[in-house]
Amino acid sequence: MSKKYVYSFSEGDGKNKHLLGGKGANLCEMTQIGLNVPPGFVITTEACLEYLDRKALPAGVLEEVGRHVQLLEEKTGKRFGGEHNPLLVSVRSGSAMSMPGMMDTILNLGLNATTLPGLIKQTNNERFGYDAYRRFIQLFGKVALSVPDELFDEEFDEVKRQAGVKADVGLNAAHLKDVSERFLRVVHHHTGKPFPSDVFEQLEIAIKAVFNSWMGKRAIDYRREFHITPDMANGTAVNVVTMVFGNMGNDCATGVGFTRNPGTGENEMFGEYLVNAQGEDVVAGIRTPKPVHEMKEEMPELYRQLVELRDKLEGHYKEVQDYEYTIEKSTLYCLQTRNGKMNATAMVRSSVEMFNEGLIDRERALLRVNPDHLEQLLHPCLDPSHHQKPLAQGLPASPGAASGRCVFDADQAEILGRAGQKVILVREETKPEDIHGFFASQGILTSRGGKTSHAAVVARGMGKACVAGAEGIKVHSRSRQATIGDITLREGDIITIDGSTGDVYLGEIPTIEPTFSEELKTLLAWADETAQLKVMANADTPVAAQLALSYGAMGIGLCRTERMFNATDRLPIVVEMILARNLEERQAALDKLLPIQREDFKEIFTIMAPRPVTVRLLDPPMHEFLPSEHQLEDELRALEQYRTVVRGRIAAFGALNLAGTSENVTEEQVNAVIAKKELMLRKVRELYEVNPMLGHRGVRLGLTYPEIYEMQIRGILEATAQCQKEGIQVTPEIMVPQVITSQELRLVKESVDKLRAEIESRYGTKLSFRFGSMIETVRACTRAHELAGIAEFFSFGTNDLTQATFSFSREDAENKFLPLYTEHGILHDNPFEVLDVNGVGTLMQMTVERGRQTKSDLKVGICGEQGGHPASIRFCQKIGLNYVSCSAPRVPIARLAAAHAQLLAQ
Ligand code: ADP
Ligand code: MG
Ligand code: MG
Repeated sequence: MSKKYVYSFSEGDGKNKHLLGGKGANLCEMTQIGLNVPPGFVITTEACLEYLDRKALPAGVLEEVGRHVQLLEEKTGKRFGGEHNPLLVSVRSGSAMSMPGMMDTILNLGLNATTLPGLIKQTNNERFGYDAYRRFIQLFGKVALSVPDELFDEEFDEVKRQAGVKADVGLNAAHLKDVSERFLRVVHHHTGKPFPSDVFEQLEIAIKAVFNSWMGKRAIDYRREFHITPDMANGTAVNVVTMVFGNMGNDCATGVGFTRNPGTGENEMFGEYLVNAQGEDVVAGIRTPKPVHEMKEEMPELYRQLVELRDKLEGHYKEVQDYEYTIEKSTLYCLQTRNGKMNATAMVRSSVEMFNEGLIDRERALLRVNPDHLEQLLHPCLDPSHHQKPLAQGLPASPGAASGRCVFDADQAEILGRAGQKVILVREETKPEDIHGFFASQGILTSRGGKTSHAAVVARGMGKACVAGAEGIKVHSRSRQATIGDITLREGDIITIDGSTGDVYLGEIPTIEPTFSEELKTLLAWADETAQLKVMANADTPVAAQLALSYGAMGIGLCRTERMFNATDRLPIVVEMILARNLEERQAALDKLLPIQREDFKEIFTIMAPRPVTVRLLDPPMHEFLPSEHQLEDELRALEQYRTVVRGRIAAFGALNLAGTSENVTEEQVNAVIAKKELMLRKVRELYEVNPMLGHRGVRLGLTYPEIYEMQIRGILEATAQCQKEGIQVTPEIMVPQVITSQELRLVKESVDKLRAEIESRYGTKLSFRFGSMIETVRACTRAHELAGIAEFFSFGTNDLTQATFSFSREDAENKFLPLYTEHGILHDNPFEVLDVNGVGTLMQMTVERGRQTKSDLKVGICGEQGGHPASIRFCQKIGLNYVSCSAPRVPIARLAAAHAQLLAQ
């Protein structure tokens, strides 16, 4: 039996978009559920692929087309190429995915010297006839025969000029006849052949042109750009549809509609129409269409039918539809429908409302919203109507948009921020001592560093916009300015940054504030009921914990204690601890830190109660808390100059016998500062490491200075005891970073046990908490069964684990070669953003299996940045993790993605 290549709308399978294309499948479906679609047929994508393969239509296709044309003739009573009542058709392309770049639609095919008089006679409208004819010649010439549009436009303008009219509507039948004749000559002249007059020849040329357009440059580029693979869409179908006319008088119209408002999601009639016009006129913008509600007055009966059509479409597809229709002499025809593309606000609202209306179930309501799109709702974004060109480009390091005055140091940011000014902190890179500047700023811009730079990580945690590594900007903090090419930014100049794209703009661009609507809350509540995976937040301070809670975090998966050290009142004590020359001095500094940490923990535990809070013991190398060598050397040079000034002034004042010297800075005071800075410089040099990220940090540091971890553990456990005493139900977890062997865990655990005994007896309460390990070294993965003997939980730190697995340092990778790697497909994605399932994922899976062999109820989670990425979340679900943890603003995205992971796994 030979293959079937052509299906009439009444027989094609409306579900088979792959074979019939999206447009064709929906035309079949609509016909079969009884909507008024003009009769027509679809030639399949298989015919397209075979045609492209062999450069010839498969045998039998034209015969099948002929038979289907005959069927159209029977249904409509018209004749293709007939002298009376001629059948005209449109030829429309359509593949499985909607894809601009493929062939444009040809309208009015079937007109020639024989059929045109028939059409005119039948409609008794000469102007209409010639208008249809000239449109056909131009479309066919342009689309099927590649005649440049300008050649037609020149002739058209010439006729308008001669007639002395500006708009098309001013032309009468004779003018349009003239236009048609000129157009026929244009085609003849350009192609060297007369315009095809045989209607079947017209149809064959058009079909082949549609097929060829699948391999046109525009279409190929589009597929590459949007990663459309053959299993998503392969070949285009051709739809041949009986023409209906919206331009035969004032009882005719054409329009487009959305079944709901695509901007807000509101359940209302939405769309535009034009009376006495053809479909293309609405899109072309030649005349201004009217909003659909005006049809209620103008054509009440047709409006009623349109509402009915809309209800049927949604009722059937159970999805918001974007549809096209034409009214010919008071009869409504539907010409196309497809799923409507809406913004995130509208998707969320319509999901909840369609569920409430009984149209869809919860599962569908959740699945139809793409978690990544929620991003739009959670941060301020730039008003999309702006047309500014960016001044510079960096990495999109923390989403959101912000405008403010440039400031070049944290102190100035704080001063202006306190005064109520909006500021953007601009630095080459940021350091822990800049933290007060973050609080005061709307956003952070750095010229160096990647997406895990200090600026990026801190900004993300705070939910502030950040553009990092904008290398085109030279920041001169001392002279308080920055240069970009020949443009200079001075302190106080206003800039706008977009942390979602990495763009930096001069001046203020209006932003749109995010809204956490009631519908979004409802949808996320459904997500939480559906999901297996819990979603935690990474949060380091009470303020961040509060924020995490407002985004619906079910606990804190990573609380980085060093972040608590950075506040201005603590950093000096931390520096004191680092500069300590012996244990006593260090202990003295730690004693001052203890109450501060304990109060922080208490506050965070209380905010999150009864949710779990995972506290990571100190992780970064100590030198991170000190200024850089370079900076200290600069300061010392300045101080020494100042000492000379002080000396000179004292000498001068003495010689002149003037009073008042005692009120000024003395040489001793300057000396003391210099001595302190020199000590710091020595320490910085002493702590210098070739590769600090692989150096003296994490549990290595904790074991060399056990008193530091002891202070932190004491802080956690005393806070727990005090909360428990106050009746607050707390569930802290102590997490050890950078572990490579169970010996390390055992040593820390001993200190935990000792302190537990002491604090339990002192407070007279039994402490409930968990002890566990971060998994971020490859060795820890291989020793998981041993570690699980001591740890009660694991948390994958996939930032470090990815660096370790790839042997990449993230910043270098992202700044130097990763873009090339992803562009050339050497790596599919940036593994620091999307979990590398094949490599890192294999290690994770092995770790989970080994760990649970030892302890079957081992709790396992992930706290790397990838924890907020939907595809990574699906993988985490697959390998049996209990939770994911991500920055607070990504929590809603992760909650929805966790529900998707569960639904898709079923
Ligand atoms: P696109 O893929 O760009 O949406 P379409 O195939 O839908 O292209 O056609 C372009 C325009 O022509 C639309 O406005 C459509 O409504 C109109 N059109 C297509 N086929 C017909 C037809 N048989 N009768 C009347 N108008 C048509
Ligand atoms: Mg269309
Ligand atoms: Mg780490």
